[in-house]
Amino acid sequence: MAIKVLFSAPDGQFARYRAPLSQAFEAAGLTVDLAEDHAPEETDFIVFAPGGQVSDFRPFTRTRAVMGLWAGVESIVTNRTLTQPLARMVDHGMTRGMVEYVAGHALRYHIGMDGHIVNPDHEWAHRTTPLAADRPVTILGLGALGAACAETLAQLGFPVTGWSRSPKTLDNVTCLSGQDGLHRALEGAQIVVLLVPLTAETENVLDAAALARLAPGAFVINPGRGALIDDDALLEALGSGRVAHATLDVFRTEPLPADHPYWSHPRVTVTPHVASETRPVTAARVIAENVRRAEAGEPLLHLVDRDRGY
Ligand code: NAP
Repeated sequence: MAIKVLFSAPDGQFARYRAPLSQAFEAAGLTVDLAEDHAPEETDFIVFAPGGQVSDFRPFTRTRAVMGLWAGVESIVTNRTLTQPLARMVDHGMTRGMVEYVAGHALRYHIGMDGHIVNPDHEWAHRTTPLAADRPVTILGLGALGAACAETLAQLGFPVTGWSRSPKTLDNVTCLSGQDGLHRALEGAQIVVLLVPLTAETENVLDAAALARLAPGAFVINPGRGALIDDDALLEALGSGRVAHATLDVFRTEPLPADHPYWSHPRVTVTPHVASETRPVTAARVIAENVRRAEAGEPLLHLVDRDRGY
């Protein structure tokens, strides 16, 4: 009998995912009936993104797992009706997109590209740019995305320090953990990248005290979640020059309200939550692998720990 997989995501997503998912299920040797309208009591698995038709999981009595299309799960883990196992998305395509975004903005700041791109007075000024080896970078979060970014920035020559909840070892990256580790990771950092998930523990991780530890004139890149930053403290640090510039991709309210000071701030680049998105072809393979595992009685990949919140 065909495995019934319900697709629940905002309008338009099914058209993007239908063919890649069907191909991935077939390649995994699975016979799947993929639809947007399976009856809850007949649904075996749910492919899920917030904003689709499903928000109450209680009627899904036979559903064996919910497989998120997003890496961040802060809006799902708090849903008390969700008692089924929840897997989040770890997608090679999304990881590569994030590496490109972070490396691009880090290099932009490092080389001082803005000064050449916006040069209304046609100033012919030679400024010596330090080498990457002289520009310490700190990445908060060493998970699927943070570790990949750390590895690439280290390959470019930056001295990279990473911070995670549990102790880690990564080649060419100084890995720190815990509160003391956070202080050491931020001390003197010239570029800080936020890639921790949003949880009760990480909200406002970049507050006034944390910003005060950065090197004067540091750069902030936030593709994590908006609430990781204390916005008032960042605006203050931008005003004082403690932070020279910030690239912000995620915000407490999205879309960023038209009157938010970030939009018009000369030292802020706003990108509209585009740092990296789930790529249907690579993500479909991850979902198919998890359905195959569930069918074979094997542990699922990328399960969310509800207590940790990610
Ligand atoms: P992940 O694999 O779960 O990694 C999270 C990392 O953060 C882990 O290293 C984890 O430590 C660390 N961490 C969690 N809580 C911590 C704490 N209290 N103190 C210190 N470290 C902590 O997540 P991911 O796939 O890399 O994704 C990270 C985030 O990126 C997502 O949650 C999402 O919000 C964001 N994101 C944004 C976009 C975008 O387009 N802007 C796209 C995708 C994802 P351990 O290693 O010890 O567990």
